Amino acid sequence: MKLNEKLRLDFPFLNSHNREKNVVYLDNAATTQKPKAVIESITNYYSNYNSNVHRGEHYTSNLATERFEETRKKIKRLLNADFNEEIIFTSGTTQSINLVAQCFVDKFLDAGDEILIGPLEHHANIVPWQIACSRMGAKIKEIELNKGGSICVSRLKKSISQKTKLIVFQHTSNVTGESNNIKEIINLCKKAGIYSFIDGAQAIAHEKINVKELNCDFFCFSGHKLFGPTGTGVLYGKKELLKKMPPYMGGGEMIETVSMQDSSWNGLPHKFEAGTPNIAGFIGLGEAVSYVSNVGFDNIKSIEKHLSEELYNKLCEIEGVIFYGDRRNVPICTFNIKGIHSFDIGSLLSEQGVCVRTGHLCAQPATVFFKSTSFIRVSLSFYNTSNEISIFIKSLKRAIKMLSK
Ligand code: PMP
Repeated sequence: MKLNEKLRLDFPFLNSHNREKNVVYLDNAATTQKPKAVIESITNYYSNYNSNVHRGEHYTSNLATERFEETRKKIKRLLNADFNEEIIFTSGTTQSINLVAQCFVDKFLDAGDEILIGPLEHHANIVPWQIACSRMGAKIKEIELNKGGSICVSRLKKSISQKTKLIVFQHTSNVTGESNNIKEIINLCKKAGIYSFIDGAQAIAHEKINVKELNCDFFCFSGHKLFGPTGTGVLYGKKELLKKMPPYMGGGEMIETVSMQDSSWNGLPHKFEAGTPNIAGFIGLGEAVSYVSNVGFDNIKSIEKHLSEELYNKLCEIEGVIFYGDRRNVPICTFNIKGIHSFDIGSLLSEQGVCVRTGHLCAQPATVFFKSTSFIRVSLSFYNTSNEISIFIKSLKRAIKMLSK
């Protein structure tokens, strides 16, 4: 049995008989499926040691705290961060970005300063910076991109000015699957004394991230795109920056002392983790990290490369297909069929049980960049198979035939 076929046995969703329809799930960039170990760890927490963390001194609270904090250690190792304190738990990429947009911009930027951002970013990596800039009187300056949608580093260099304080960029695009040369961009930032923020949402499930080697200031991702539960996310930040940033939200756990007029803040990472967290979710995320580490990124890369090429080559044979992006560093293939609206294709694929994403992909400026209002996106994971790609291609051909009549 091939490795991908063996691994998919670990995912209840992929083997479910409790649906009216068999599905071919090709929307992994939106969210990934969860291995049985993740689901069971959540049930185990609620069934056997459901208690709040960092609060009680009783047995089950200590056990919950231990398992919850174990996840932080696993993520520190996954990202190769220096300290557990640099791993902040959030509800997802969106909250991680909002946290930095609010707390970092407040502390480190002045009116008139500039943040550089490219037009292929997800809305979550544009809007929070707009809100922060408008509060602060800072400005967003648009980064110029290559034809395929990645950042052109030589042009980026030219757009840096004395006012540039921060460069915000995604590791990999959720529209094209194309990765930026993040190491080169970070090196440029370091030379120019500019801070770097990386949205790693689309890279985290496909390649090994090493924040120490990258030397980035911030990196974030969502647990649900790494085979973990929804409502979990991570912000990595350099300790010396996180220490200087004010808290994000006020509440329990983020304080050291509280009087009626004033409060002082807890140390890292708790300063940024007000209120009861998603305990079950983070325990599940810890299982997801162990699962992915056991599969190994070398295996993941090699399966995905093979599947991705097969998908692309088969799509190339279809008349009227228009691709977006030049390189597919992660297994995302985004396209349109000439003369047919993506929504029509999407709904006919859905009728045949094939799940793909259609629309602006939460990246409206990307639709302007590519001069198209909407896309069809197929995104794979290591548990997809050649057979699923064949079913998708057959279903797509059927849809095109029906819509061309
Ligand atoms: N950035 C990118 C590149 C994404 O693909 C996504 C999710 N599609 C996000 C940010 C937002 O992630 P979340 O909704 O999990 O917070």
